[in-house]
Amino acid sequence: MAAPQHRRTALERIEKFLSGTYFTDCNLRGRGALFGDRCPPASLSCFQTPQRIPYEEAVGREFRAAQVGDSFGPTWETCWFKVELSIPLAWAGQEVHFVWESDGEGMVWHDAQPVQGLTKEGEKTSYILTSSLKETEPHSLTLYVELACNGLFGAGKGTMIAPPDPDRRFTLSKAELVVFNRDVYELLMDLEILLGMAQLLGEENQRSFQALYAANQMVNVCNVTDPSTFPAARDLAAAIFSQRNGESQHTIHAVGHCHIDSAWLWPYEETIRKCARSWVTVVRLMERNPELTFACSQAQQFEWVRSWYPGLYTQIQDLVAKGRFIPVGGTWVEMDGNLPSGESMVRQFLQGQRFFQEQFGRICSEFWLPDTFGYSAQLPQLMRGCGIRRFLTQKLSWNLVNTFPHHTFFWEGIDGSQVLTHFPPGDSYGMQGRVEEVLKTVKNNKEKGRVNHSAFLFGFGDGGGGPTQEMLDRMKRMSDTDGLPRVQLSTPGRLFSALEKESSQLCTWVGELFLELHNGTYTSQAQIKKGNRECERILHDVEVLSALAAARGGAFRYPASQLQRLWRLLLLNQFHDVLPGSCIQLVVEDALQYYTEIRRAGARLQEEAVRALCGELLQPEAGSTGSILVLNTLPWERTEVISRTGPAGAETLALVTVPSMGYAMVREPLLPPQPVAVRKQEDGSVAMENGVIAVCLDTMGRLTSLRLVGSERESVPDGCYANQFALFDDIPLYWDAWDVMDYHLETRKPVTTLLKPLEITLAGGLRGSASFSLRIGESSTLTQEIILDATCPYLRFLTQVEWKEAHKFLKVEFPAQVRSTSATYEIQFGHLQRQTHWNTSWDWARFEVWAHKWLDLSEHGFGLALLNDCKYGASAHGNVLSLSLLRAPKSPDATADIAHHQFTYAVMPHRGSFQDAGVIQCAYNLNFPLHAVLASSAQCAAWSAFSVSSPAVVLETIKQAEDRPDAVVARLYEAHGSTVIAWLQTALPVKEAMLCDLLEQPVARGRLALEQQGVRLSFTPFRVLSVLLVLAQ
Ligand SMILES: [Zn+2]
Repeated sequence: MAAPQHRRTALERIEKFLSGTYFTDCNLRGRGALFGDRCPPASLSCFQTPQRIPYEEAVGREFRAAQVGDSFGPTWETCWFKVELSIPLAWAGQEVHFVWESDGEGMVWHDAQPVQGLTKEGEKTSYILTSSLKETEPHSLTLYVELACNGLFGAGKGTMIAPPDPDRRFTLSKAELVVFNRDVYELLMDLEILLGMAQLLGEENQRSFQALYAANQMVNVCNVTDPSTFPAARDLAAAIFSQRNGESQHTIHAVGHCHIDSAWLWPYEETIRKCARSWVTVVRLMERNPELTFACSQAQQFEWVRSWYPGLYTQIQDLVAKGRFIPVGGTWVEMDGNLPSGESMVRQFLQGQRFFQEQFGRICSEFWLPDTFGYSAQLPQLMRGCGIRRFLTQKLSWNLVNTFPHHTFFWEGIDGSQVLTHFPPGDSYGMQGRVEEVLKTVKNNKEKGRVNHSAFLFGFGDGGGGPTQEMLDRMKRMSDTDGLPRVQLSTPGRLFSALEKESSQLCTWVGELFLELHNGTYTSQAQIKKGNRECERILHDVEVLSALAAARGGAFRYPASQLQRLWRLLLLNQFHDVLPGSCIQLVVEDALQYYTEIRRAGARLQEEAVRALCGELLQPEAGSTGSILVLNTLPWERTEVISRTGPAGAETLALVTVPSMGYAMVREPLLPPQPVAVRKQEDGSVAMENGVIAVCLDTMGRLTSLRLVGSERESVPDGCYANQFALFDDIPLYWDAWDVMDYHLETRKPVTTLLKPLEITLAGGLRGSASFSLRIGESSTLTQEIILDATCPYLRFLTQVEWKEAHKFLKVEFPAQVRSTSATYEIQFGHLQRQTHWNTSWDWARFEVWAHKWLDLSEHGFGLALLNDCKYGASAHGNVLSLSLLRAPKSPDATADIAHHQFTYAVMPHRGSFQDAGVIQCAYNLNFPLHAVLASSAQCAAWSAFSVSSPAVVLETIKQAEDRPDAVVARLYEAHGSTVIAWLQTALPVKEAMLCDLLEQPVARGRLALEQQGVRLSFTPFRVLSVLLVLAQ
C-alpha cells in the first residue's frame, strides 16, 4: 500500500538503517551483522627495533608475548608481530578476514612475502584469508605484521603539519579473525548509493525521488535477521541502477591512484615501506577485481620497490605488462615545478623515461604532477622533447585568489610548444567513489559543452594504500545509471585519447601555471635551496670537464654510472616537499647529507677529469712554478678577477682571461685597464669605482648612488636606499613552511640597527671591498662584504647571517630609477615577464614570485638587474626589486633555517636591454666561478673546446651521450627571446652531428652538416636544441 512519504523522514530513516552509531541493535549494519563471529589469535608476540630491518632478519629475532591494547613506540621505531591463527572448523563455507587495527602503519607478511598493507586511516583493516573456507584448506597459519610507529601523515604533535612528536605511542586496538557477511555488505553499498542519489540529485530531479522511494521500499522488505529477504531488496536497487543514461551523458574515467610523497612528514626510508605497503595492497585488490587500473608515478619509487621488495616488484612488472598497473609521469620523482634548473628538469625526464623504458619496455606518455606548487612555462617544451604531449595536474584548484578558468585546455609554453592539459574537475587526486564526488566532477567542469570526459583519481595516498573494495563497489553501481555521469574504470591513455578527439573546441592558456599559494616555498629551508643550486653547478662542471677529458682519448673513462648516482640524489631532493622546504627536520638532514655526498664525490670527479684533461700542464707534486691553470666551464670567454689561497694561506688576486669552455695558462696576471678605486668620505660613506660602475655606500652599507661610469644615469632614485634590508612578520593562515600571505607586506620594518659601520676591507687595485654588520630583529645579525672587481659590471654582496628568528621574513630591496609596468625573471632555459603593478587580482596574487639566477627591471635604454647565487623568491612592485632571503617557519620543522647562512647576490646597472648588456651571461658567471689549479712550467696556448657564435644562444650542457661513449650531447637554448642562427664550434674531433630530442634519440631529418664554421643551428625564441656529436676516435 502506498503511503504519503515525507522526504526528510524517508532520508533519515535510510541513514539510520545504515548507521554504525544509531540503532545498531536493530539496523542492517549492527543487527544484520556486517561482521559475524569472531575469534582471537591463538598467540600474539612481538619485539621492537629502532631500525627498519628486512623480514629475514626480523623472523630470527626473539619475540615476547603481546596483547591487544598494548602500545608501542616511540615514534619511528618498528614493532614486529608474530600472529598465530587458528580458524574455527565451524566457519566452513564462510568468508574469513584477519582484522587488524592500529594507529601505526602495518604490513602483513605471509610465507616470507609482503601480502597486504594495513592502515586504519586508509580504511584498510582487513586481510582476506579466504572468501569461502573449505574443509581441505589449512585452518592454522602464521602471519607476521611489521608495524611502523608512525601514522599515515607521520606523527605531528597536535596538528598534522606540526613537528613530529618524538615520543608518540601507537596502540594495537584490534587483532582477530572474523566472519565477513558479504550479502550484508552488498546491501549496504546499494543503499549508500541510492541514499546519495536521493540526497544530492535535488528535489527538482525525479531521479532523486525514484532513488529515495526504492531505498525506502528496500528497508520495508528487508528483515535484517533473515538474509533470505535480501535478494528482493537488492532487486529493487538493481532496477534503479540498470536504468541507463542517454548518449549525451558525461563520462568519468576512474583510475586507481595513491599519491605517495617521496618524503614529507616522514623520512625517505619510511617512504620505501609506504610504497611497498600501498602497492602490495593494490596487487591484492587487482586479484579480486580484474577491471581495476592503477596509475603510478615516480621512477624512484619503482626503483626502491625493485631493490627492497623484489618479489612484489615481479608481480608489479607482470601487471604493468598487462596494462593494469600503469607507470605515469615519466620523471624520476614528482619534482617541484618552479625551482629546478632547466637541465635538472630534463634529467628528471631522462632518468625517469629511461628507467621506464628499461624496466617496462615503454616510456610514459603523460606528465603527471598533481600535487606540485606551480608549473614553469618552460615545461611544455621539455615534455614534448621527452615524448610527452599530455599533462595531468590539479593543484591550481588550491589557488587562493583566482579560480583557474579551465579543466581541459592546451597549455602553451614560452617557446610556443603546446601540451593537452587536464585538471580532474573534482579538484582532487584522492577520490573515494562517492555520489557527491562524481556529481561535483560534472558540475565543476569548466569545459561543459566542449569536452565530455574527465579524470577521477581514486584511492588514499601517502601510505593509505590507494583504492579500496568499497570504492570499486560504489563506482560499479554508478557505471551507467540515469541521472549520474557514466563512471568507467579507465586509464590515463584512454582519457586523453577521448579528450584529443574533442580537442578542436579547447582554449589555450599561455605562460606559467602559477599557484596562488605556497609562495613561501621559494625561500623556506635556505640550505636546501643552496644545496640544489650548488649541486646543479657541480654536476654541470663535472660533466663538461669529464666529457672533454674523455673526448681527448687516453685511459680516462667518463664516470657515467657515478654521475647517474649523483644526479639521482639531486633529483630525489627536488621532490615537491623537499626542495620547497615543506618537510620535517629528519628529511632536511637526509637532504643535506645527499648534497654533502654530491659535493664530496663531485670534487673528486672534477679533480680526476681535470687531471685527465690537462695532464702534463698541472704542477708536479712538489715545488711551485708560480703558474696557474684556469678552467672555464661556461661557453663564452671570461675576463675576471680570481682569488687563490697560497700555500701560506695568503689570498692572492689575479685578473685572467679564459676562453670559452676551455682553459688558459696564467703566468703573468693581466693589468686591469683601470684599477678599482676605493675612497672613504668624511661622512663615513665609501665610494668605489672600477671604470665600469661607480657606487656610493652609506655607513649602513646602503647604496645612495649607483652609476654607469661615463654616464650621468643614476640607478638609485633620489632619497632612496638600495641594498636596504627589511624584516616582515610572516605568520600565514595554516601552511607555515609553505605560505607567505599578502598581508605580510603591511608589516615591513627596515633594518637600521648598525652593529659595525662600513669599513674598507680591500683598498682597491684588482678588487675593492667594504664591510659592515647589522642587527636584525631580536637576536639575529648580518655581516656583509660589498665587493667590486676590476672590469666587472656588477657589484657583489657576500652576505653572512646568524639567523635566529621566529615567523619573520628577511628581504633585501633595490629601488630603481626605472619605470616599467613589467619586470623580467629568469626561468628554466629562458625568462618571462610579470607585472609590477597590482591592477587585477591575477597581478596582485603574484606579490611573491620565483626566479632563478636573475631578475631585471628595464625601461628603454637602461635597466637594473639583480643576480643571485642560491635564492629563488623575489618580487618587483612599482620600481622596487626585492630578493627574498630567509624565512623562519616552525611547522613542520621547528628548527627550519635557524642557522648560519652565507649567500651572494649582485646588482648590475646596464645600458640598453638586459639581453644586449649581457645580464644573462653575468648571472651565469656569478654562479659558475672559474677553477684555478697550480700549473707546471710547460708552455701551452689557451684552449677552447666549444664556442657559440651568437650571444643569444647559451650552450648549457656538455655531457657524454647515454649508452654511447663515442658521442657527446651538447644542449643549447635561445636565451634572448629571438629568432637567430648560431654556429656551434668545437675543437673536438667530430665526425657526425645530428639533432636529437631530450631523451637523446636522433630526430627525423636531424642530420647536420659539418662546415668550416662548425654546425649551423636555427633557433626560435627560447627553443632548446640538443645536438649529438659523434666523435672520430
Ligand atoms: Zn604530494
